Amino acid sequence: MFTNTPDEEFIIDTHPDHENITVGAGFSGRGFKFASVVGELLADVVQGTKTSVPTEAFRIDRFDR
Ligand SMILES: Cc1cc2nc3c(=O)[nH]c(=O)nc-3n(C[C@H](O)[C@H](O)[C@H](O)COP(=O)(O)OP(=O)(O)OC[C@H]3O[C@@H](n4cnc5c(N)ncnc54)[C@H](O)[C@@H]3O)c2cc1C
Repeated sequence: MFTNTPDEEFIIDTHPDHENITVGAGFSGRGFKFASVVGELLADVVQGTKTSVPTEAFRIDRFDR
């Protein structure tokens, strides 16, 4: 059993109400093979530095649209 998002894409973002919380979740059965790049992206998000690849598709607020 694994956690799915509605669009089956990851969530890699800062929590919308608590900017001191970074979310890496909803890997929809594909998280293991992306662990190293997800780790790098989460480190960039935590530090507020530019990510090596675009993370727009992984924003948490995409479900509000
Ligand atoms: C059957 C199955 C097959 C899969 N096959 C693949 C595959 O072929 N390829 C692939 O890329 N991915 C696969 N996945 C998905 C992959 O395993 C997940 O995407 C990945 O493990 C998610 O990593 P994670 O660190 O986010 O969460 P997890 O690996 O679930 O780690 C979360 C950790 O947090 C701990 N935890 C939970 N609550 C608390 C708490 N309150 N306090 C402290 N610790 C806590 C848990 O014990 C766990 O160790 C599969 C998953 C399953 C279930």
